[in-house]
Amino acid sequence: MRTPFIAGNWKMNLNRQGAMTLAKGLAEALDSISNVEVAICPPAVYLSEVAVAISGTSIGLGAQNMYHVGEGAFTGEISPLMLRDLGCQFVILGHSERRQFFGETDATVNAKTQAALANSITPIVCVGETLEQREAGSTASVIEEQIRGSLAGLSADQGSRLVIAYEPVWAIGTGRTASPSQAEEVHSQIRQLLSSLFGSSVADLIRLQYGGSVKPENAAELMSQPNIDGALVGGASLKVDSFEGIIRAAG
Ligand code: PEP
Repeated sequence: MRTPFIAGNWKMNLNRQGAMTLAKGLAEALDSISNVEVAICPPAVYLSEVAVAISGTSIGLGAQNMYHVGEGAFTGEISPLMLRDLGCQFVILGHSERRQFFGETDATVNAKTQAALANSITPIVCVGETLEQREAGSTASVIEEQIRGSLAGLSADQGSRLVIAYEPVWAIGTGRTASPSQAEEVHSQIRQLLSSLFGSSVADLIRLQYGGSVKPENAAELMSQPNIDGALVGGASLKVDSFEGIIRAAG
């Protein structure tokens, strides 16, 4: 049985005070949640203060990106060692905004995934097709290429420590959600692909999150699908009520 996993991606939002208010509000609201794993991914500059606000709770801490090297002359980058040092257990890798605006490719996502695993940080590896790709009928091939490229060279043991987020680009921040059956179709394809890469017993352990305009109103139906094990949530993770509503829908 896979424990549902809901992660909140705060993206480049909130100021210091807003981040603290949200983290403290979540710490209080989620106190009684035990059947769903939860993580929040604030902007990197607020990670250490948010870590303090959620310490002693079951809420995990994640970063939104990292570089794949431990230390050195890489101005502006943040390393896996630094994230570990701040108490991060998770890192989002290959989010479509990073692929679109910052030139991330399956090869860079692969290097980062390997580095995260080597440093005991759980990568949340994001894949997803654009609207043009969906309309051209190439969703399955795009997803396969992203999964194979991002996970190249990983052992079955490494595979067992992954989280994958399927986020159709056309559904991110648009208010347009994939229908539960559209999402399940891709999730089931991803599970089969993971099974061919790592074996079915490992593939059965890997949590597959759906991301793209998840809200309290659509979360339960999405997560009732057999291969949808949680959600990566953007906009709705910025308010205690809506994030809590999604988490309760997953439980
Ligand atoms: C995301 O950024 O990963 C995301 C899914 O955003 P939203 O929930 O706002 O669509």
